[in-house]
Amino acid sequence: MPQVTIVPTGESFAADPGEPVLTAALRAGLNLPHSCKGGHCASCRARLLSGETTYPTRELPAGITPDEAAERFVLLCQAHAITDITIETREMRPAPEVEVKSLPSRIDRMERLADDVMAVFLKLPAVEDLHYRAGQYIDFILSGGRRRSFSLASAPADGRMLEVHVRRASSSGFTGQLFDTMRAGNLLRVEGPLGQFWFRGDSPRHAVMIGGGTGYAPLRAMLRQLLAVGDRRPLTLYWGARTTPDLYEHNWLSSVAAVRPAFAYRPVLSEPQAEESPWAGRSGLVHEAALADLGADLAQYDVYASGPPAMVEAIRHTFVERGLPRAQLFFDSFDYAPDTLAAMRKTDNK
Ligand SMILES: Cc1cc2nc3c(=O)[nH]c(=O)nc-3n(C[C@H](O)[C@H](O)[C@H](O)COP(=O)(O)OP(=O)(O)OC[C@H]3O[C@@H](n4cnc5c(N)ncnc54)[C@H](O)[C@@H]3O)c2cc1C
Repeated sequence: MPQVTIVPTGESFAADPGEPVLTAALRAGLNLPHSCKGGHCASCRARLLSGETTYPTRELPAGITPDEAAERFVLLCQAHAITDITIETREMRPAPEVEVKSLPSRIDRMERLADDVMAVFLKLPAVEDLHYRAGQYIDFILSGGRRRSFSLASAPADGRMLEVHVRRASSSGFTGQLFDTMRAGNLLRVEGPLGQFWFRGDSPRHAVMIGGGTGYAPLRAMLRQLLAVGDRRPLTLYWGARTTPDLYEHNWLSSVAAVRPAFAYRPVLSEPQAEESPWAGRSGLVHEAALADLGADLAQYDVYASGPPAMVEAIRHTFVERGLPRAQLFFDSFDYAPDTLAAMRKTDNK
């Protein structure tokens, strides 16, 4: 099996040529940067210093340009090692207590938050603890090892029960089944915590959170954790949704903003014309509203973005162009699952 060596840490692990390098790294316990795992978000971009990799379809994934590929950048969530390779990337060191576990969970209850959004509360076995950072996600492990990723909407401060906010994305896929047939008491295998989307508490900068739809979930977790520990730093949350019912925690967020002067809540609707009563708030695309508010000096902010890939992609480009240092942008792109993307590619190529 090809060996992968990481520069600068010198760590190494074996990667099966039939699997993405990132999958092998995570299995070896190395938390390399990643987010969507679908070849879109480029969080897992690394430079290939020696050896060769290939992509399963032989085409470049969407998240890398031909120029970057020519400079030997690869996306580790898609690239397979075909020889021993050396890659340059940084490892994100989670807190020592954060260990990725695969555990059975039981659905404790489900609550409809909006027409197409369900809160699912998950109970872990009494003898097991899942230590995570607010903002991280879990994978549900389905038959054949397929995975579906969901951000934890709960925070460690909320206790042992895990909460996820699931938008119905399909009729017969995992989310469709969850809405139609799953009930309290059903068992689901989860793996987590995953990802590097957590609040950088050591930064002195004003934090701006931008969530699209259920992209609110990990930001909610961060906010709940900050409130629980009494953190009073300046924080602005932009939440983009189609219509008012999709802002399913509008009242709670408004009440937090009313008593906590350093916290501002800015809801933005993309389809306010569908409202029964006129919408007095902001309308348009949430990241455009945020950009219009923040002014010219984006370097004074840390930006946390999560939700639809198109929104995250737009923020990655426009905010950085407008002076936000890349190192001050943290994001989770709610991409399609790897097997869904692969099936879609196959259909496209037919
Ligand atoms: C890191 C991460 C965190 C995520 N967190 C959340 C979360 O907290 N809440 C949440 O609701 N979702 C979240 N997602 C997205 C979620 O994982 C997908 O919606 C889910 O995998 C869909 O599974 P499915 O089996 O229902 O659909 P699939 O069977 O995989 O796909 C069937 C069809 O559904 C549609 N579809 C599938 N996935 C998406 C998608 N991502 N966007 C738009 N349409 C889609 C497409 O039409 C697709 O052809 C996250 C994704 C990632 C990568």
